[in-house]
Amino acid sequence: MEISEKAPAKLNLSLDTPFRHQDGEHEWQMVMTAIDLADYVHLKTISNTKKIVVLTNTGFLPCDHRNLAYQAARKLQSLYHINEGVVIKIDKNIPVAAGMGGGSSDAAAVLRALNKAWKLELTHAQLATIGLEIDSDVPFCIYSEPALVTGKGEIVTPIGDLPPFWIVIAKPKASVSTPSILRQIDYASLKHQNVPGIVAAIQKNDYDAMIATMGNSLEPITAKRYPDILRIKNKMLQFGADAAQMSGSGPTVFGISQKQSRAQHIYNSLCGFCNEVYLVHPYSLVSSKK
Ligand code: ATP
Repeated sequence: MEISEKAPAKLNLSLDTPFRHQDGEHEWQMVMTAIDLADYVHLKTISNTKKIVVLTNTGFLPCDHRNLAYQAARKLQSLYHINEGVVIKIDKNIPVAAGMGGGSSDAAAVLRALNKAWKLELTHAQLATIGLEIDSDVPFCIYSEPALVTGKGEIVTPIGDLPPFWIVIAKPKASVSTPSILRQIDYASLKHQNVPGIVAAIQKNDYDAMIATMGNSLEPITAKRYPDILRIKNKMLQFGADAAQMSGSGPTVFGISQKQSRAQHIYNSLCGFCNEVYLVHPYSLVSSKK
């Protein structure tokens, strides 16, 4: 059986961590959206073997058990005693190690696709629980619609459509290792975000309140190591973005605008300054199926 699945990138409109669990994992409070910059995952199941083969259009991504898409397939296969293998071809468009959840979204797309191919009939909540064992962003990526994400990443509460806006994304050259940033969190000095405020703003479809409550508590930590983050953020604001901030643990910065012409101006201006720049929209896996 052959099946293809879209794996959209994510951005954090709000990111905070109120405390660390005793097992070392962080408690998260995040408001996330998927965007229409996406990888595409093509799967072909193969009988008489349990082999999992991963192929990508990049030269640098691991294709063995270190690939999150491989881990997702292996997990479903062993949990549900599937006697079939699968070839997974990933068309990679999402920048890697950028704070845009590319690996997690590939893993989530594999879980959604194999759920159909192997007729497992698992709910999104069940797939999210399996996905959490791969990465804390996989549960959100299973849903890929605007959501409040709490717990260790496994509690995904959809919050409805966002008010309409354009997004300019710029990725500085650096690749950021998420664990190395998380190790530097100092809870005594961490600046917290108004997460309930942004959820309420989105639910009221109030764009101004939404931009006033956006924020990322990890931004000062990553920006200290990669000053380009603040340079790009300031450029976005200077070129007219309504708000600009880092996504995830960075280094990707995004700016938003309700006006297409202003977003285009920010995009054009940043193209000369940064070599990976994108102009995109929020995306919802649910709305795309309506
Ligand atoms: P996170 O913040 O969730 O750790 P990220 O968005 O910053 O993720 P990814 O692009 O997911 O970064 O890559 C993080 C690491 O995962 C990289 O070191 C990369 O080699 C590894 N990885 C494994 N599988 C994949 C995949 N399918 N796509 C991208 N990266 C992958």
